[in-house]
Amino acid sequence: MISKSTQSIAILAFHKIGEPPAGQYPTWNYIPTAEFEKCITDLDLAGWTFLSLTTFLDGLLNNQALPPKSVLLTFDDGYKSFVTTVMPILADRSIPAVMFVPTQFVGGYNAFDRLVEPEEQICSWDELRHLESQGVSVESHCVTHPNLSLIEPENLAREISDSKREIDERLGKEVQSIAYPYGHTPSDHRGFSAQLANAGYGAGFLYGGGLITLPIQNPYFLSRIAMGPDTDVLDELGHKS
Ligand SMILES: [Zn+2]
Repeated sequence: MISKSTQSIAILAFHKIGEPPAGQYPTWNYIPTAEFEKCITDLDLAGWTFLSLTTFLDGLLNNQALPPKSVLLTFDDGYKSFVTTVMPILADRSIPAVMFVPTQFVGGYNAFDRLVEPEEQICSWDELRHLESQGVSVESHCVTHPNLSLIEPENLAREISDSKREIDERLGKEVQSIAYPYGHTPSDHRGFSAQLANAGYGAGFLYGGGLITLPIQNPYFLSRIAMGPDTDVLDELGHKS
């Protein structure tokens, strides 16, 4: 029997592009806009193809062929700054992306990590609707941005299904994926996978790790490369510098 060929895919996980609000210090989650733009240019010049979430999921779940060097851009938490710092760069080059939002904080602030990160505005539903129309897939990051390894089963169910339902209803779409806040998941991986499948999710994203390899063992534990200001994207993707 001929063994099935394998393929590596890069999933990049960003938080904030640009500067923190006036008077606040940047954390590792901030990448200067020029540096982000360089990262996109470097990937482009090195022959990487930017996938939409739909194309990515077709390759992941339906065995559709993907370009040999495929990359998925993801952004966590739904920061409003995305609209002014990231969107012009992506729109200019027609590059798709994925944004994971904790639904309780839409239109508000990052109250969930305000002790360790500067307080910043999170997109409103109108802004998310606009981003969705511009090629950004708005997907689930739970309701309250909890650590899923620490919450009660009934709250876990609510975080998973209520966040999806609210985005589905508000944006008139079908959410297909979820990114786990802080990258944490419950320890019962089989039960958790079944719960996600029942809720209608096709894929789930961790935070950290390297490239993923298709065919995938379990689509609910996809590692993502954590991107910070000192991350050399081509290094991470195995290019010689
Ligand atoms: Zn987050």
